[in-house]
Amino acid sequence: MGLKPFLQPIPLLNDNYAWLAGTVQPDGQAELVLFDPGEGAPVDSVMRQHPKWHLVGLFITHRHGDHMGGALQVADQAHVPLYGPEDALGLLEVKGAKAQGQAPLCHVLEDGQKLSLAGMTVEAISTPGHLNQHLCYLVRWPAAMKAAPALISGDTLFSGGCGRVFEGTPARLFHSIKRLKALPDDVLLCPAHEYTAANLAFVQRQMASHPGLTANLDSRAVVKRVDQVKALRAVGQPSVPVALGVEKATNPFLSAPDEATFTQLRHVKDIS
Ligand SMILES: [Zn+2]
Repeated sequence: MGLKPFLQPIPLLNDNYAWLAGTVQPDGQAELVLFDPGEGAPVDSVMRQHPKWHLVGLFITHRHGDHMGGALQVADQAHVPLYGPEDALGLLEVKGAKAQGQAPLCHVLEDGQKLSLAGMTVEAISTPGHLNQHLCYLVRWPAAMKAAPALISGDTLFSGGCGRVFEGTPARLFHSIKRLKALPDDVLLCPAHEYTAANLAFVQRQMASHPGLTANLDSRAVVKRVDQVKALRAVGQPSVPVALGVEKATNPFLSAPDEATFTQLRHVKDIS
């Protein structure tokens, strides 16, 4: 089997990433899906540079503009369906009908729903907390490809941090993140923002000032991750994807033992 897994971020807006995932053949022909197209132009430019890459679907994690601002443009150009939470797709249907005279093809996904496309499976995981409706996506390639799965985490979980709570309670976000923590260590975390360096600076400050909030972290792993992120960012490379195992040792929101610790940590971060 010559088919290989494909996973790559597309930087857009200030610090967002849209993620391309799928499979590529030895001749470079690739079938891909795109997660969180916050802006159309950078996606268009990447696809024009790679005429052998073919989009077969668009996935949205949640309704914020920096995650779906380019969705209608990309879906219209590539003639592909949209998948995501109900509220996000509802907004896109209305916008699409107004702008293009025709609503895009939308499929609302529920927790646990699995789709097979682009040579892989995509499973929706409901993770309310940042907003009431937020889906993460677990991407799995066939076992023969021996590829680590990828977790498209939107604004629920970042490297070294987590999303802000705009709807609901920190406890709700804690329970969503707990579900992600149960995934295996080799899963590759693919968040929607390049916040890692600032998040790790916050982590190191808390390790000094609030050791109780960061008790489960591995200080050597934090230092190692800080150095790695510095080196990557110095040459303009993304700090992600990163193995979930590394995050479990370096991200205090992921390692928080209970609701109370998580809630306090989120509060300290919000006012910092
Ligand atoms: Zn958001």
